[in-house]
Amino acid sequence: MNATPTALSLLNRVFGYPAFRGHQEAVIDRVTQGGDALVLMPTGGGKSLCYQIPALLRDGCGVVVSPLIALMQDQVAALNELGIAATFLNSSLTGPEAYRVEQDFLAGRLQLLYVAPERLLTPRFLELLERARVALFAIDEAHCVSQWGHDFRPEYLGLSALHERFPDIPRIALTATADAQTRREIRERLQLEAAQEFVSSFDRPNIRYTIVEKADARRQLLRFLQDHAGEAGIVYCGTRKKVDDLAASLAAEGHAALPYHAGLPQEDRRRHQERFLREDGIVMVATIAFGMGIDKPDVRFVAHLDLPRSIEGYYQETGRAGRDGEAAEAWMAWGLQDVAAQRRFIEESEAGEQHKRVGHAKLDALLGLVEAASCRRVALLGYFGEASGPCGNCDNCIEPPTLWDGTEAARKALSAVFRTGQRFGAGHVIDVLLGKPTEKVTQWGHDQLAVFGIGAELEGRPGDDKRWRSVIRQMAVRGWLAVDHDAYGALRLTEAARPVLRGEVQVMLREQAARRGKEKRARRAVEGLAQGDEALFDRLRNWRRQTALVHNVPAYVILHDATLRNIAGARPATLAELGEIAGIGATKLERYGAEIVAVVTECPPRLESKPPL
Ligand code: ADP
Ligand code: ZN
Repeated sequence: MNATPTALSLLNRVFGYPAFRGHQEAVIDRVTQGGDALVLMPTGGGKSLCYQIPALLRDGCGVVVSPLIALMQDQVAALNELGIAATFLNSSLTGPEAYRVEQDFLAGRLQLLYVAPERLLTPRFLELLERARVALFAIDEAHCVSQWGHDFRPEYLGLSALHERFPDIPRIALTATADAQTRREIRERLQLEAAQEFVSSFDRPNIRYTIVEKADARRQLLRFLQDHAGEAGIVYCGTRKKVDDLAASLAAEGHAALPYHAGLPQEDRRRHQERFLREDGIVMVATIAFGMGIDKPDVRFVAHLDLPRSIEGYYQETGRAGRDGEAAEAWMAWGLQDVAAQRRFIEESEAGEQHKRVGHAKLDALLGLVEAASCRRVALLGYFGEASGPCGNCDNCIEPPTLWDGTEAARKALSAVFRTGQRFGAGHVIDVLLGKPTEKVTQWGHDQLAVFGIGAELEGRPGDDKRWRSVIRQMAVRGWLAVDHDAYGALRLTEAARPVLRGEVQVMLREQAARRGKEKRARRAVEGLAQGDEALFDRLRNWRRQTALVHNVPAYVILHDATLRNIAGARPATLAELGEIAGIGATKLERYGAEIVAVVTECPPRLESKPPL
């Protein structure tokens, strides 16, 4: 006879993990004992276990409310792979299929049932709930009740009915949306007044943040992608056209790149998303239409080729990388034109004055982040109200930017803008500063101005176009130069520029680091593996790809990269040894153990020395 399982024994045996993370254990205790909980954890923090384990420990079936049908399928597939009796009830099922699920539910044959909110609230389903044994209600993506948030789902408002009709069944609400306002709304609208709150840090320590200035964005991206060959990632672009062009050009360079944006036919979008989820190493080039509900754990990088709208947006988008806790990269290239484009976008929107002000303020906060000379993570977390110290895993920590005294350069730039009449863009102003007699310069007589050529030297070195662009960009971000989006990016002086022009403030500028983040890195997934083990890792990946095809599930549902890496490093020769590896639970061992051990034993062991010829 088995003793009653404990949370930890289930974690070890069913999920194959050695220990709980963060608040998981406390949340599980609370809910298992029948209490309500409100759980705030960042993406990838491990929210699912917080309701899955209590559902297994308590009598009856756990009912999970989830807003996206596409998500339910993969989650259920992953649970089934662990040997858990889970299924879903949503509009993708036929009548007879749904009926079968209902019967299984009533008969107590299910451990977890995923339901869409609109289905849950039908009289028919509420009546089923009265007759079935329910272990708990889990409300995933609970921020969908917030009418101010961008994911608002009116059906979520009806979920307070659960508390009214089933006051004795514990409820757990989970979200990755942090701010206090949303938290308050969740409590009120879901009637979770008695819920204990578990708030985790929103740091994602495994994500490395790098932000570079655009020089030749496509080339910079290709260089970045070299370090991520064969890995899955997302490249965000600002427009549909750019998505199409870039996806085509990456594909021509040999990358497995696919486009995704709202202008593509539904069928193409579905197919591309499916390939991204199921195949290894697809690069999705997309607008922000792509991402909501993508919980693929092994996305290794998120690149932004245009400036995001806000820090919230940036954090949410980059948060799609590295959900499995393995090293991942968030990389952004931005330029002054992005700023002008966004300002124009805000101004031209139909929104009221207040919305526009908020839009500009959010953009300003983001610009503060991209121009920061100190730790990016401190700035990001600080924006969300969380204090932290320098992280050691962002570009500014790894390679602190050099600052230089740009007081004179700033004055020269402002003079050049002023003397040329505040009606030209950065390109022309820089030509004047450098003393280039271009056609446009001579046509306007700007070669006759006193400012012509005053910037030919910068700090005793020959000035150049790139360095001046960086100066102007930094001045624009600090609000000394305004970019007039109605006049093709013409630069203007602002009120705030006066003291700078008069030389009353010292201006420290960042050195333009042309090759930031250049250091070549090993492929993330095999980091730390010896060479012979890398070969085994590749074989294991091949085996996983085949197995995933046969089971018709995404590869990560079979086993995670981290687990494959542990196997490749440990080379278990027996089932018992394999069972010791994190990520291998009892069901996986039973299902795949023999095959995996065969792959391991067939792969020649690491080469200690050169083999004889
Ligand atoms: P969230 O829903 O918070 O984004 P998930 O529940 O999808 O996160 O978990 C993220 C990943 O972390 C999953 O791959 C999951 O298997 C893994 N994970 C969760 N808890 C643990 C743990 N205690 N030990 C190891 N891995 C874990
Ligand atoms: Zn840092």
